[in-house]
Amino acid sequence: MEQSPALVWFRRDLRFEDHGALYHALKGHARVFCVFVFDTDILAALPKPEDRRVEFIWRSVKELDATLQAHGGGLTVLHGRATEEIPRIAKQLAVAAVYTNHDYEPQAIARDQAVAGSLAEQRIDFYTFKDQVIFEKDEILTQAGRPYTVFTHYKNAWLKKLDGFFLKAYPVEKYITHLAPLSVEQSMPSLESMGFRTTNLLQLGIQPGTSGARALLQDFQSRMVGYKDRRDFPAIKGVSYLSIHNRFGTISIRELARIAAAENNEGANIWLSELIWRDFYFNILYHFPHAAERSFKSEYAQLKFENDEYHFKAWCEARTGYPIIDAAMRQINQTGFMHNRLRMIVASFLMKDLLIDWRWGEKYFADHLNDFDLAANNGGWQWAASTGCDAQPYFRIFNPVTQSQKFDPDGKFIRRYVPELQGLSSAEIHAPWLARPMDIAAAGIVLGKHYPKPIVDHATMRVRALALFQVAKTSDPTQS
Ligand code: FAD
Repeated sequence: MEQSPALVWFRRDLRFEDHGALYHALKGHARVFCVFVFDTDILAALPKPEDRRVEFIWRSVKELDATLQAHGGGLTVLHGRATEEIPRIAKQLAVAAVYTNHDYEPQAIARDQAVAGSLAEQRIDFYTFKDQVIFEKDEILTQAGRPYTVFTHYKNAWLKKLDGFFLKAYPVEKYITHLAPLSVEQSMPSLESMGFRTTNLLQLGIQPGTSGARALLQDFQSRMVGYKDRRDFPAIKGVSYLSIHNRFGTISIRELARIAAAENNEGANIWLSELIWRDFYFNILYHFPHAAERSFKSEYAQLKFENDEYHFKAWCEARTGYPIIDAAMRQINQTGFMHNRLRMIVASFLMKDLLIDWRWGEKYFADHLNDFDLAANNGGWQWAASTGCDAQPYFRIFNPVTQSQKFDPDGKFIRRYVPELQGLSSAEIHAPWLARPMDIAAAGIVLGKHYPKPIVDHATMRVRALALFQVAKTSDPTQS
């Protein structure tokens, strides 16, 4: 046990329980300080002062500080460049080592390398740990020693390797007395002082912190058994809504996987698969960082998108004339959440019905999703665009009308977000332009006035999308 103190740097792991870096620091040092940095390198890129993610972090950090204080510690909260603040506070506190959890994003890896370098100049160690995934880096490889790029194979290997050891919680409580109280009186920076404002986060019912995650988990546990049958219908409460908590680590992924594995029914097994998708995409981003910038598959790197700005704007502003698309886009615009089935439908529509570069949509989601995560978002977009590692084949093109009929059969979700179509029957609401003029009139709607006519014809665009992919395939030199 080292008498010299250590510093734990919290990032996307805003919890006290079952925390890899915190556990290792507490075990190894008699005094452990804790810090969080509102990193201006990240905040500067955010488009709006009303950002639910920043408010979520701010409130979660406050809760974490209170929890640490209740155990005799505390959280120093800084605002500045993490690459400068961490070496500075480490020196000020005279710590022997900084502990933190792995981050797999290319920019985060570069940041951590810079911090490690500055700390090394001061002879301060930098220790990092796996925490936000069950398996990372080279833990799951093919027999040839390469990363898996097909999900089913990855999942089988993941499940085969899983045992109690990988799901065990880090018993942070065991060394709790090693938490050091805050060394200097400090007040947490306000949202306003950092250039941000309070949002509608709480009005939306999104409860930050571990307390928020626990409330959602408790609510979901009784529904987990029905997940398989209910998860694809955006109008009903079929999913867990835990993604924002998984993003910011307010609950441990080991705890979630442990619960799902223990339940061991069809619903729980499918839910566990979703957690494996999460690991899979971290694994892809870590091993293939080029995917963050361009198509995972080289043959689709040169797709000739049409990139019509007017169409893109209509998609963003929920004015496509396809009710399921517009309802989904209003959901993300108003709440920062979009149901997974709808993410797939709108992503496919942007790419294959509007022929717009998937990276435009990826960026829009990155700016608007509360749960935005580079690995999952990039993975989801490349899946829908057919450019990804284990993607939807390019010739499978979602028909937005049949998807709507299948997954929102009564139009309940559409009515929630597109109330101007309220008066249409369940049969008509998915494609108002096909309804009989007398029914449209009876519903009090004039198409093109109260609700747009469709901006494209799906059947026509489908043919053009297929041609786009075929040209790319035949002109790719690696395919000959
Ligand atoms: P549940 O259905 O309850 O699933 C449980 C957890 O598993 C989620 O909280 C999430 O952490 C994880 N998960 C579920 N599905 C996936 C998946 N396909 N890939 C990776 N992890 C998954 N998820 C994000 O967390 N951040 C994103 O930025 C993101 N962008 C996406 C973009 C597109 C185009 C698509 C198709 C999917 C995207 N997803 C993203 C995945 C998925 O849509 C969300 O994780 C899910 O809708 C969140 O709702 P939930 O928490 O109720 O999920």
